[in-house]
Amino acid sequence: MSRRDKMIEKIKDLMYKPESIRNIGIVAHIDHGKTTLSDNLLAGAGMISEELAGDQRFLDFDEQEQARGITIDAANVSMVHHYDGKEYLINLIDTPGHVDFGGDVTRAMRAVDGAVVVVCAVEGIMPQTETVLRQALKEHVKPVLFINKVDRLINELKLEPDELQNRFLKIIAEANKLVKNVAPEEFRDAWKFDVADGSVAFGSAYHNWAINVPIMQKTKINFKDIIDYCNDDKQKELAHKVPITEVLLGMVVEHLPSPNESQAYRVPHIWDGDIESPAGQTMTTTDPNGPLAVMVTNVTVDKHAGEVATGRVYGGTISKGTEVFLVGGHAKARVQQVGVYFGPERVNTDNVPAGNIVYVAGARGAIAGETICDPEHKIVEFEGLEHISEPVVTVA
Ligand code: GDP
Repeated sequence: MSRRDKMIEKIKDLMYKPESIRNIGIVAHIDHGKTTLSDNLLAGAGMISEELAGDQRFLDFDEQEQARGITIDAANVSMVHHYDGKEYLINLIDTPGHVDFGGDVTRAMRAVDGAVVVVCAVEGIMPQTETVLRQALKEHVKPVLFINKVDRLINELKLEPDELQNRFLKIIAEANKLVKNVAPEEFRDAWKFDVADGSVAFGSAYHNWAINVPIMQKTKINFKDIIDYCNDDKQKELAHKVPITEVLLGMVVEHLPSPNESQAYRVPHIWDGDIESPAGQTMTTTDPNGPLAVMVTNVTVDKHAGEVATGRVYGGTISKGTEVFLVGGHAKARVQQVGVYFGPERVNTDNVPAGNIVYVAGARGAIAGETICDPEHKIVEFEGLEHISEPVVTVA
């Protein structure tokens, strides 16, 4: 079996283990490094070949799709990550960067359980950082923090260790003010960004390294060493010692919830139906055997497959060839293909169970925000998405 086929088998196996899945989004103010980070995570997780890594913009790539004759969905990628002797399936949903797409960001947030908030160390928290963090929290999506472009603080701004630290503390304090004000009441303390527990990482997406306190303790690399690596032009060496993929995906696995953990508290928040009903119970327990519930987050048109809806399976299992009901469209449709992501490619499967990000071909007429269910078990729609385009509270 080729390495690729083995990886695909792994993904098909992991999609039945919700405790080993992390559905995440990366959110940031424009230019803070979201694209660079996404590309380098994919390359580091071995999901793209060496020759495609590097300068290739992996999340914007029409030519690659044409050159390789495969179907690439720029909006979603998945990775298999080894952490502490276990394998995890990380589904990364692209969230549009510009504030005008606030609605799309919210929709993407609906598909995920956790978010990596990227903040440029030079600019700090900007209005859009605040908006996207606020959107995540309102959707009950747990955040972790990545302070990016630390190389610039050292090489361009020539900051000393205590100045570096002060800058980091200021960013973390500002982000925590939002958590305190906006996070669901029961998580206000638990979701606070905490340097000591490793829910904040520092690094350079461009130079491919990152560090957080648990990794500092393990590798004995401290901020003074990092300053030396940057000043001595040895960031490649640093990237070898503390690779960004290892550190950030480790943080994701450790601190962001699995679908079964998060659906228990998110479903009552985002779905208006009766939680005690079979559909409600199926969703809160991420049960693959109950009534089907899929929330569509994005629809694209593919030249081979036609309309392709991407969404999150909250309950039951969606299967190829079955009839489904589009709640908003009041129409039945036949599912022609279903599948999951392998890196940026789509891989067809017969079934996709609860807890996963799915693509569906054949759900004709589905629009973003649509709810898909069984024709025999009609359910109420997921709650309308609240669009937040302006920060409501200014953090000083
Ligand atoms: P996005 O708009 O958030 O997707 O940001 P990009 O990933 O496109 O990055 C914006 C610019 O910042 C690009 O020119 C990147 O090369 C640069 N950049 C991203 N991360 C880093 C970093 O860690 N260090 C430095 N020096 N530049 C970075």
